[in-house]
Amino acid sequence: MSAFSLDGKTALVTGANTGIGQAIAVAMGRAGAHVICAGRSSCAETVGLIASAEELALDFADPMAGTGIFTDRTVDILVNNAGIIRRDDSTDFSEDDWDAVMDVNLKALFFTSQAFAKAALAAGREGRIVNIASLLSFQGGIRVPSYTASKHGVAGLTKILANEWAARGIGVNAIAPGYIETNNTEALRADPERNKAILDRIPAGRWGQADDIAETAVFLSAPASKYIHGAVLNVDGGWLAR
Ligand code: NAP
Repeated sequence: MSAFSLDGKTALVTGANTGIGQAIAVAMGRAGAHVICAGRSSCAETVGLIASAEELALDFADPMAGTGIFTDRTVDILVNNAGIIRRDDSTDFSEDDWDAVMDVNLKALFFTSQAFAKAALAAGREGRIVNIASLLSFQGGIRVPSYTASKHGVAGLTKILANEWAARGIGVNAIAPGYIETNNTEALRADPERNKAILDRIPAGRWGQADDIAETAVFLSAPASKYIHGAVLNVDGGWLAR
């Protein structure tokens, strides 16, 4: 079997209805996995694009919502993709915008990962976790303080969970996407000055597509990456090299 195959594996992707999560779910399916498409919005469209897939309602308005989902299903690969962003000057940033982002991007990611690892360890099963981090796991950004804090946190959690679980059969890594054309970046693309400033700095000379991230998620879930642990891999058209 190819070292890049996910044949026989079940992958659960959070936020699989759109954007990067949808592209990852489709790529996982293409690589042979059965895919559980989890989301607060319907994932019917994504399920329709995959040979073997099912839908799971999962809303991180309660960041502990993922803790019960591994008791009655076997999952080999968890992709923590769901994430939100709120923009405001740091002088005006509200507690609501702080809590909402930290709950979805960081608290839900940790406790869903914990539940996944507990189930896998109890069953003596290997597992892989792929977290979706950000360039703002490394850089400060502008007007997105809770997003930056949460994504720095995602990088940190990726490393601590790898330290604790690598020898126990669970690989934990993250992808730091560059600027990708999704709902998340709509406001940036709509602002001609910000759009130009961003494009001018990307060595690849274009915004990323969700599909640019998807195959990296497959790689980090497949046997080919079995000795990679705790990595935060930037897939950014060269942005961080600049
Ligand atoms: P997106 O199109 O806005 O997708 C975000 C996903 O998260 C959607 O499926 C969304 O569901 C889901 N989500 C939001 N709140 C949720 C909740 N309470 N419960 C469950 N799911 C929830 O943006 P995207 O760019 O694909 O983002 C995916 C991930 O990539 C995020 O973690 C984001 O931070 C990260 N990222 C994106 C970029 C970029 O340039 N686009 C760069 C770096 C990192 P709804 O559709 O129902 O809102």
